[in-house]
Amino acid sequence: MEKKRKDKNLVVQKYGGSSVADRRSIERVAERVISSAKRGKKIIVVVSAMGKSTDELISLAKKINPEPSDREMDMLVSTGEQISCSLLAMSIHKRGFGAVSFTGPQVGIITDTYHTQAKILKIETERIRQQLENKTIVIVAGFQGISTALEITTLGRGGSDLSAVALAVALGAETCEIYTDVEGIYTADPRKISDANKLSFISYDEMLELASAGAQVMHTRAVEVAKKFNVRLHVRSSFSKKEGTLIMGQTPLIEETVVRGITLTENEAKITICDVPDKPGIAAFVFDKLAKIGVNIDMIVQNVSRRKMTDISFTVSNKNLNKTIKKTEEIAAKIKAGKVNSNKNIAKILVVGIGMKSHSGVAARCFSVLAKNKINIDMISTSEISISCIVNKNIGKKALAVLHAEFGLGKGRRKKRER
Ligand code: ADP
Ligand code: ASP
Ligand code: MG
Repeated sequence: MEKKRKDKNLVVQKYGGSSVADRRSIERVAERVISSAKRGKKIIVVVSAMGKSTDELISLAKKINPEPSDREMDMLVSTGEQISCSLLAMSIHKRGFGAVSFTGPQVGIITDTYHTQAKILKIETERIRQQLENKTIVIVAGFQGISTALEITTLGRGGSDLSAVALAVALGAETCEIYTDVEGIYTADPRKISDANKLSFISYDEMLELASAGAQVMHTRAVEVAKKFNVRLHVRSSFSKKEGTLIMGQTPLIEETVVRGITLTENEAKITICDVPDKPGIAAFVFDKLAKIGVNIDMIVQNVSRRKMTDISFTVSNKNLNKTIKKTEEIAAKIKAGKVNSNKNIAKILVVGIGMKSHSGVAARCFSVLAKNKINIDMISTSEISISCIVNKNIGKKALAVLHAEFGLGKGRRKKRER
């Protein structure tokens, strides 16, 4: 993707599945888009499939064939966005405004050939620009493109965010607005922590950590691309007019903010290879072989060696668990290691904040509050701006709540501090 000169008058608005879930919602989005157009903006709208329709298509496919091919899955799930974008165009027409809907392939969103997880290589903007010149609102089906092999591809779950950011980059929009069912980015998932606070801003790096730990509100690669090309993201609700959260490079400094947000991930599993010979090259061999089957390994821990033998544990997403266990067993046999165990009963807590760069003792504070609450930590890993811990799944929610309170992120605590 190439960077374009920024056009202040151009805005990309992305509406997620919950914002176009039914007829009424589509009409509401139409009104909102029109009101931006009336303010003289050139608008590109990216839409997701209606409500949970992508999930429904996936479950229908799996009933027909439990192991459908990735190509046919892309053919199927890409239709969801085609429905919502054409309906939105019709709804705008009814209100007397010009709009045209396009699929990803029609506007030249060119991807590589990795079905279900394709990467955008480039976007041909000519067709969109022509329509914008004619003052037509352009609506693009999110989540999809056409591969260099001329096949329909999709960009991974939640990928409409990426379509929107990539279009903002390609067309030179200064801001990309992400409309969703919450008012912005919160200190924790508001579905899990009822007194989570909305943030006014968050840095790309912090958002990247939260998104890769599963904060579904933003797609990880969308944040990566926004960071690379310095596109400001404004995450806000499509149900209210309130300002949301700005995701940006340099966030204003607030002395006290050490921790910006916390996530709880409950869809990972831990795999342990027991009695691994402790010699150079073994870890490289194990993780190289696992990388070749395309699974993302998250945390890795190697135990202290006992008589030249050690245990290696790592976490993977549950959806890749079976194929990872199978491969790990093959690897264990090759390196003459012992048994391979797996445990789905885990949860990962990730504590994120750019302030950790300049404040020491955050990790110690996390561990001691967990200890005070009798929460045992199974694995730990840290980065410059984050700390993650694996705990037992049964106490994941409690761990999230105590850490959220400890760092003063809840509404009650913040009010008290401000008084
Ligand atoms: P959309 O359909 O608009 O793409 P998503 O369902 O993908 O919306 O993302 C919005 C959801 O993300 C919210 O309903 C919320 O429960 C969840 N979420 C997880 N973590 C956070 C967070 N830190 N801040 C806000 N929302 C979050
Ligand atoms: N409809 C797709 C999904 O549900 C893409 C998206 O919503 O962004 O994953
Ligand atoms: Mg989403």
